[in-house]
Amino acid sequence: MENQATMESQQSNNKLHVVFLPYPSAGHMNPMIDTARLFAKHGVDVTIITTHANASRFQKSIDSDISLGYSIKTKLLQFPANEVGLPEGIENTIDATSLEMLVKITIGVRMLQQSIEVLFKELQPDCIVTDMKYPWTVESAAKLNIPRIDFYSSSYFSYCAIYFVRKYKPHYNLVSETQKFTIPCLPHTIEMTRLQLHNWERENNAMTAIFEPMYESAERSYGSLYNSFHELESDYEKLFKTTIGIKSWSVGPVSAWANKDDERKANRGHIEKSLGKHTELLNWLNSKENESVLYVSFGSFTRLPYAQLVEIVHGLENSGHNFIWVIKRDDTDEDGEGFLQEFEERIKESSKGYIIWDWAPQLLILDHPATGGIVTHCGWNSTLESLNAGLPMITWPIFAEQFYNEKLLVDVLKIGVPVGAKENKLWLDISVEKVVRREEIEKTVKILMGSGQESKEMRMRAKKLSEAAKRTIEEGGDSYNNLIQLIDELKSLKKSKALCNKQD
Ligand code: UDP
Repeated sequence: MENQATMESQQSNNKLHVVFLPYPSAGHMNPMIDTARLFAKHGVDVTIITTHANASRFQKSIDSDISLGYSIKTKLLQFPANEVGLPEGIENTIDATSLEMLVKITIGVRMLQQSIEVLFKELQPDCIVTDMKYPWTVESAAKLNIPRIDFYSSSYFSYCAIYFVRKYKPHYNLVSETQKFTIPCLPHTIEMTRLQLHNWERENNAMTAIFEPMYESAERSYGSLYNSFHELESDYEKLFKTTIGIKSWSVGPVSAWANKDDERKANRGHIEKSLGKHTELLNWLNSKENESVLYVSFGSFTRLPYAQLVEIVHGLENSGHNFIWVIKRDDTDEDGEGFLQEFEERIKESSKGYIIWDWAPQLLILDHPATGGIVTHCGWNSTLESLNAGLPMITWPIFAEQFYNEKLLVDVLKIGVPVGAKENKLWLDISVEKVVRREEIEKTVKILMGSGQESKEMRMRAKKLSEAAKRTIEEGGDSYNNLIQLIDELKSLKKSKALCNKQD
C-alpha cells in the first residue's frame, strides 16, 4: 500500500502542472478557459487563478470536465470590491456600464498582483500561461525559473501590424488624421489612417506606458499562444515567428474545440443557463430558411449610444432581411427605452427580427443553419467563432485592435464588407455626428445577405476557412499537433530541470 501511495505521489510530481491566469473580460477569459480545458484534456494538471464572480461564469464547464476525470481546478482570490468602491460581484469588464467602473475594475485587478505572486510560489507550477495584460508575470516566472507563455487574445495579423507601426511610426508626419499610410514590412499592402489606430499608438500618451510593456512582454517570454490556426493567417504566423522572432503555437479555434455540444455552446462564458432557456430563440431560428438570418453583435463590452441604435434600427428594417440583434441593456437612455420597445414589438409581430438583451448564446446562434452572416465589431473571438461557422461578415470595428482585424477580414481574407467605421474610440466617446448612418448599414446588409456575386464569393471563401478550422483541431491537424507539441516540450523542460536539480 505504502509503495503504491509513493508511486502515485511520484507520478503526480511527474505530471506537468500549468497555471493559467486569465484577464477578467470575455474576450480574454473565454479563449483562455477553453485553452486551459484543452490542456487538461490532454493530461496536464491545470490550475486557473481567478476571482469568485469570474469563476461562476465557467465553473460548470470545469465541474463537468472534472467529472470526466480531467485534472483541472480553480484557485479563487477575493476581488477587492470594497477597496475600489465597486458593488460585490462586479469583477469583469462585461459588467462595466461606465468609464469609472471600467477604471475601478482595472485597478482592482492590479491590486491582486501580490496575492497572485504568493499563489504562484505556493503552487510551484512547471509553467504559467498568463494574459498579455499581465506583463509583470515575466518577472514572476523568472523568479520561479519556469517558462511564462504569453496569451495574446487576438490575431497574429494585429500583433505584427502593431509591431511594425510601433517600430517604424509610418503614421508620423502625415498631413491629416484621415490621410492613408501603408504599414511597412507586411506581406500585403495594408492601408490605415491615424484615426483607426489606438490613441496610444497615434502619439505617446499616458496609455502608451501601459500598453507598450504588454506588447514587449511577448518578446521577453518563452513563447506565445494564439487562438488562431495555420490556414487562417499563415503569412503572419510566419512573420511573427521569423522576422519578429517569437516562438509561438497556434491552437485555435479553441471555442470549437472545447465546446462541441449544444449545452456547452449555450453555457459558455456567462452565468450559466441551460439549453432549455433558449427554446424561444431556437424556435424562432428553426422557423427561418437556411442562411437567411443576420446576427448583429458588438461583443461583450461595447454599449452603443442611443443615436447609433436608432440608425441600426432603421438600417436593419430598411434592408428587409431577418436579423438577431444583441443589445446591451444600458445602451438605452429613457427616450431610447420606449423607441426600442416599440421596435421590438413591431419586429415580433412581423417575425422579421429577434432582440436579445444583454447577453446572447453566441456559439449556439452562429452554428445554427438559419444564420447566414454577422455584423461584427471584429473582436478576435467573435471573428474566429463566425469563421468557424463559415459566415461572411459586415465589419464594424469600434476600438482597440479591431480595426486591424477588419483589414485582415476585408483586404486579406476577403470575407468581410466594411460598414465604413472611421475612428478607433471607446463606445463612451462616440459622438452623435460620428455614428454610422442607416444608409450605410442598409447597403452593406443588402450586399452581404443578398444573392449577388460578391456575397456568393465571400460566402464560399468563408466556408473554405470553416472547413480548414474544423480540420485543424482534429487529430493530425495543425492546431491539434501544436498543442501536443507544446505540452511535450514543456514536459521535456520539466524533466531536464529535474535532472539538473538531482545533479546539483
Ligand atoms: N459573447 C457571447 N455573447 C454575447 C457577447 C459576447 O457569448 O452576447 C462572447 C463571444 O462569443 C466571444 C466573447 O464573448 O467569445 C467576446 O469576445 P470578442 O473578442 O469577440 O470581443 P470583446 O467582447 O472582447 O470586445
